[in-house]
Formats: sequence, structure tokens, C-alpha cells
Amino acid sequence: MTPLEEILHKRIAAEGPMSIAEYMSLCLMHPQYGYYPTRDPLGAAGDFITAPEVSQMFGELLGLCLAQCWMDQGRPETFVLAELGPGRGTLMADATRAMRGVPGMLEAARLHLVETSPRLRDEQRRRLGPLMPVWHESVADLPEAPLFLLANEFFDALPIRQFLRAGDAWAERVVGLRDGALRFGLTEPVAQAALAPRLADTSEGDLVETCAPAQGIAEELGRRIAAHGGAALIVDYGAERSLGDTFQALRRHERADPLAAPGEADLTAHVDFGALAEAAPCAHTQLTPQGLFLERLGITDRARALAAKLSGAALESHVAAHRRLTHPAEMGSLFKTLGFFPEGATPPPGLLT
Ligand code: SAH
Repeated sequence: MTPLEEILHKRIAAEGPMSIAEYMSLCLMHPQYGYYPTRDPLGAAGDFITAPEVSQMFGELLGLCLAQCWMDQGRPETFVLAELGPGRGTLMADATRAMRGVPGMLEAARLHLVETSPRLRDEQRRRLGPLMPVWHESVADLPEAPLFLLANEFFDALPIRQFLRAGDAWAERVVGLRDGALRFGLTEPVAQAALAPRLADTSEGDLVETCAPAQGIAEELGRRIAAHGGAALIVDYGAERSLGDTFQALRRHERADPLAAPGEADLTAHVDFGALAEAAPCAHTQLTPQGLFLERLGITDRARALAAKLSGAALESHVAAHRRLTHPAEMGSLFKTLGFFPEGATPPPGLLT
């Protein structure tokens, strides 16, 4: 048993089954035994690899996309450049390196990072230290100012709840104990006001996922961008509407049972982009698949320029990275970009309009 498993067993024995959100929060964020606070999960030796770790091109293009938004909005003299869940700091390091080519931008930027893991904050400090970042526990703590923000594979880590439709009511999927082991179970169905709109597009036995923290964060970002200007680029895997069980565990690059080793595996769920867009009135209504987004931002030209300096194994891995980021069979269509920008402003380049 992992130390966290013992804690979970005791908690469930005392208080009864817990929601998947509570299980996910404890597994990912328990200060002593949680997944994120105890390790750097990224990279070949970790559990998963993200787009910025695949190639520098990802961060460069997202950085230039924000730079164009900053110019289109009249180059605000001081602004908050922010990232949610910056991991190793690679995305922001690549983005700001690209922004150096834009006169005045970095001078105007104040870097703010929202990150709960002390371990990953240390990694971020190593890469981004010279930019003097300020760390925050939550989006609510960011300063009120024009906000230009990136979030890659952040929203998928936020705790979800799952509901199974039974008539016009919903049974919640919970984590309980059976025969001394963690097991999924279902509560008695009850009406759920928040899920009333989903009665129109689901049928008996369908499972839907909700993520209240994600909606709260989207609302807060939307409010700030509408009030002060700015833009947000949210990249993640997911769909327009949540439907079906997407709760998953990854361990050493393999799918795992989410209940098998609490605290030792990364737990995620697909992002319900429709719910984010509804929570933030300044969200763009159309999602752009990652592959298309990067193509429209010029990844092929950038890939060619980098390829010119490479040969042998380095060239091969560069070509594979380009494919991995953009090809529909890899990250190109499962991953999507949602943009936020103020009403009347020019949309961020690359997004479908
Ligand atoms: N964006 C990075 C890392 C993705 S992993 C990349 O693309 O490589 C998810 C990141 O979000 C980690 O840095 C993790 O510590 C952070 N994170 C997860 N849940 C969080 C929360 N509730 N608040 C703040 N940061 C969180």
C-alpha cells in the first residue's frame, strides 16, 4: 500500500465513499504524498511528455501569438505575462526567448506563474529566474492588469466529478472500499440543477464530467481580460462537450488503473472546452485543433529553418517532433486551443475564425 492509499482507506472507512474530485485532489496535491508535490513528472524518465517538452517550436509560436495580441492591443506599457501550471518552465522560456525579437515587450512584461508544487517551482526558478517571476497559488492572486496568459495541459489536471444519467436524475460515481480495496461505486440518483442543460443532449446511462474549479478559473480569466485587455491561450486535450468517462491514469508513459497506486500516477480527464467558454463570456466560440493552430502560426517554416542546422539523429528527432505536435494521429487533433480576448479586439493569430 502506498502511504496515500492508507490515508484514503482511513478516510473512506470513517466518512464513506468520496467523489472522484476529492480522490483526484488528494492523489495529485496531497502536500506530503501527492503526485505533483513529490516529483517532476515530465520528460522521458517521468510519466508523460507535453508539447513544450517535445519541441521548442511550441513555446516559440505560442509566445509570438501572444506578442501579436500585445501589439494589436496597442502595446500596453505594463502587463501581466502569466502561465498556469508551468511544469518545468520550458514553455515560458521558449515563449519569452521568441518575444525578445519584439521591441519593448519583455520590458513591459511582469511574469507571474500559478503553480502549487514547490518542487516544480524550483524547476521553474532554474529556467526563468532572470525574468524574476512571482509565484501564486491561484489565479485569483494575479495582479489586476492587462493579462496575456498561457496554459498548456493545466486544465486536465483539475479535479472532475462524474455523473451517470438515470432518468432525469444523476448518480454520482464515487470511490469507496470493497473487500479491502479501492473501488468505484455509484450514489443514489438525485436531480442536479447544474446538469439540467445536459438533459437535452444526453440519454439514459450516459456519463458526463463536470469540473467546477476549471469553470471558476475560466470565469476569473475572462473577467480580467474583458476588464483590462489581454489574451489567453488554453491548450489541452478534450472536446466541445464532455461525454463519457475520460478519467485516466498515466504511469511511465503507460495507461494505468486510476485506483491502483494513489499518488504514484498522473490523473487527468479531458477538458470540457464548452463549459470553459460558457464560464468566460470573452472566450472565442470556436476551438482550433492544435495541429491546425500551429500550422497557421507558421510551424512548417520554423521547422525548416531549424532543420537547416541539423543532421543525422538530431534531424530525425526534430522531424518526428514536428509530426508529433501537428499530425492528427498524434497530438494534432486530440489537443485543441481555446482563446480568450476582449470583445472588439483582433483575435489571436492562428485561431479559426
Ligand atoms: N504546462 C506544463 C506542465 C503540465 S503538468 C507543460 O506543458 O509541460 C501540470 C502542471 O500544472 C504542473 O506544473 C502542476 O504542478 C500544475 N498544477 C496542477 N494542478 C494545479 C493547481 N490546482 N494549481 C496550480 N498548479 C497546478
